[in-house]
Amino acid sequence: MQSVLEARRRILSRVRSLGAEEVALPESRGRFLARALRADRALPPWDNSAMDGFAVRAADLAAAPVELPVAGSVTAGDGPDAVLPAGAALRIMTGAPMPRGADAVVIREDVDDRGGSVRFPAPVAPGENVRRAGEDLEPGSQVMEAGAAIGAGEIGVMAALGRARVEVGRRPRVAVLCTGDELCPVGREPGPGQIFSSNEHALAAQVAEAGGVVARAELVPDDRARTEAALVAALACDVVVTSGGVSVGDRDHVREALAGAGVAIDFWKVAMRPGKPVVFGVAPTGALCFGLPGNPVSSLTSFELFVRPALLALQGAREVERPRAEVTLAGPARKQPGRAYYLRASLRRRGDVLEADLHAKQASNMMSSLVGIDALVELAAELGDVAAGSRCPALLMRAV
Ligand code: AMP
Ligand code: MG
Repeated sequence: MQSVLEARRRILSRVRSLGAEEVALPESRGRFLARALRADRALPPWDNSAMDGFAVRAADLAAAPVELPVAGSVTAGDGPDAVLPAGAALRIMTGAPMPRGADAVVIREDVDDRGGSVRFPAPVAPGENVRRAGEDLEPGSQVMEAGAAIGAGEIGVMAALGRARVEVGRRPRVAVLCTGDELCPVGREPGPGQIFSSNEHALAAQVAEAGGVVARAELVPDDRARTEAALVAALACDVVVTSGGVSVGDRDHVREALAGAGVAIDFWKVAMRPGKPVVFGVAPTGALCFGLPGNPVSSLTSFELFVRPALLALQGAREVERPRAEVTLAGPARKQPGRAYYLRASLRRRGDVLEADLHAKQASNMMSSLVGIDALVELAAELGDVAAGSRCPALLMRAV
């Protein structure tokens, strides 16, 4: 059985970026830049004042204290045509273009403002309180790499450069098929032997969080032909995610149905817990097909480890992995060597240490353990029981 690392490597080796689309700047939030962004103009665009104060020639203040007449005023929004007469000062506001002839700004708090004139108590160095054109970004300089994640800061920079539209990676269209005769859609009353299909909702949320769009969602009974028919229809999407029916039960038809639909199975089973029977294959259409186990914790964990990185890579994201950190276990963990364990945990900071509280109910059917997860703690395959105080890697699901 292959390792989680090997499985992920195989999946990512099959991912081809979906290409780019252009969106309005506000819609680029949470997306990934399709190509490197270069500044096509300088930031700031022209020399301007960093402070409210007086624009001067530094040379005129060399013999300070000195008093100069105030020849006028420039403010943000004024054009670039103000001129500082020799031997005078101009009142200037933050963001106003530097007047021709001025080479420094003395802040208002440092002078004695007498209305028609101003007294400078000390000399000033040329360039003081002046923001130089291009000191932030020179025209042609690279601002962001291709695949950069776009958040508020990136949107601010692109807006400052006047970009109204942005080229971003296309969102993957995802089909979510939940298999199981026992499944009842949320919103209906379950019949005898039925349970609510929770996976379709958890998976849809995971797809959306990874930037995908659920283009198709279906409950499929445990019937080989109907599973295959549902898969064939789903292959029009970029990614197909199924839940349930990938194990060795009498009614587990997903692997056969995938093969029947023409999907070349790349692997089945990964040395992990939860989530061992995961299956991955690629359809002739290029659709990436993930068969996840039905147990809700297995479904969530295997999506996290395999589907999420693929969805991000399809969008051209530079970083497809969760951030990792070393955590210290607050309590012991029972483990058998052979498979890597992914344990749901909440984290807290104790000084420099991130302490992980493993959820008490780690079985793959324990829904209550899906609430409030900060991290998946990774116990390496070769490990046996792990003592309290041990340090292990963890995938951070959210900031703590
Ligand atoms: P399976 O992988 O089909 O053998 O299912 C394993 C367990 O997960 C069974 O107890 C199923 O009832 C449960 N299960 C399967 N699909 C879902 C689903 N969509 N929502 C909630 N539980 C499910
Ligand atoms: Mg089933």
